[in-house]
Amino acid sequence: MTPDHRDLWLLPLGGCGEIGMNLNLYGHDDAWLMVDCGVTFERESGQQNVRVMPDPQFIVSRREKLAGICITHAHEDHVGALADMWPQLKAPVYCTPFTASVIRRKFAEKNLLHRLPLHEVGLRTTSEVGPFIVEWVQMSHSIPEPSGLLISTRAGRIFHTADWKFDSQPVIGAPFDQPRLQAMSEEQIDALVCDSTNATVSGWSVSESALEEGLRDLVCQTKGRVVVSCFGSNIARLVTLTRIGKHLGRRVAVLGRSLHNMVASARATGYWPEDCELIDGRHLGYLPKEEVMAIATGSQGEPRSALHRMALDTHPELLLDPEDHVVFSARAIPGNEPDIDRLIRRLRQKGVRVTQSEQHARKIHASGHPCAQELKQLYDWVRPQLLIPVHGEEKHMQAQDTLAGEAGIPRRLTGRNGDLFRIRPQISVLRRAAETGRLRLQESPPGR
Ligand SMILES: [Zn+2]
Ligand SMILES: [Zn+2]
Repeated sequence: MTPDHRDLWLLPLGGCGEIGMNLNLYGHDDAWLMVDCGVTFERESGQQNVRVMPDPQFIVSRREKLAGICITHAHEDHVGALADMWPQLKAPVYCTPFTASVIRRKFAEKNLLHRLPLHEVGLRTTSEVGPFIVEWVQMSHSIPEPSGLLISTRAGRIFHTADWKFDSQPVIGAPFDQPRLQAMSEEQIDALVCDSTNATVSGWSVSESALEEGLRDLVCQTKGRVVVSCFGSNIARLVTLTRIGKHLGRRVAVLGRSLHNMVASARATGYWPEDCELIDGRHLGYLPKEEVMAIATGSQGEPRSALHRMALDTHPELLLDPEDHVVFSARAIPGNEPDIDRLIRRLRQKGVRVTQSEQHARKIHASGHPCAQELKQLYDWVRPQLLIPVHGEEKHMQAQDTLAGEAGIPRRLTGRNGDLFRIRPQISVLRRAAETGRLRLQESPPGR
């Protein structure tokens, strides 16, 4: 299975028909380009997470044809398998500075950093990767520097959105590049390969900047300590929370290893504002309750996370009392509900007040993915010949297919991991063209 100079193909090995472990291969002129290299998490209730990655055998067996690996953003479902898989691939990696900072830490932990050819690219720049010209297009999402990739070859061009939403006030970083997206309508995009996560949700996503009021009111209402749990990579959320704490006379600390790592990456790449002072978590226990605010890992009920330890009174830096308030500024990832419910029960037994974003009247969490009207707006700007929905389960991909049909996109193709989507010279799909599978990786990164 070798693409020639007239061919332009997409072969997903992960992330098509599921949300997690994204790995896409683009094929053209005897070469392959990998886009993202992520993991997914499998967990039996109460047990430790097991990290799972796509079986890369297809590309490992033709590794000399892999021109490079582009990573669109630093979420684990896009980058989490890179350091595990890279020794079998040894291809150059391309990404923006924030993502590079996260990747460097992962490679350093495996003592691989000195071997990695890492090309840091600026947003709105172009990389030549074998026969693929890759333009990095600024999108918005729930992490710094989310990039869509406009992939041009002599056979045709594809816009691979990766994860995105339209947020004109993302709190940190530049908003999505609307003029660039609009210009694509004139550029004959052969295929749009697009995020399906929220295609079943009508309307528009909530802006990250719209959460400040609801979060501030919750902190205002609290006499004791405030502990907020959110996804550690959402730097904008951390900045919003830190500013709220500061304005309301609280000292803010982050608790949990993944949070510390993400703040370090944000500082190193200029995304952490100078006015957002954090204190060392070890000082929290000495402050009056009403002056304490902690941002903690554990929104998914993870057994070793900071929040879980607080619920068990085993956290070395912070113990909770009645009148304290734990706020979940995150949604429950499907499958994690039993662990989250158990965590909340333990907190409530201690007399701690708990607020969950799903049950709260005000907006205190925003998804990073596009809803139906945003998808239609993107179709209208890009005007592709073909839509290929990815990054979703069957129902999400079907919903996006329907939306694209209503919007007048001439062709749509939905498939599964291992299906070969032929985009040029003719549109067709070859089912089960490549072997796929799931590989378990040893330990998970500790939550704290
Ligand atoms: Zn994703
Ligand atoms: Zn993402």
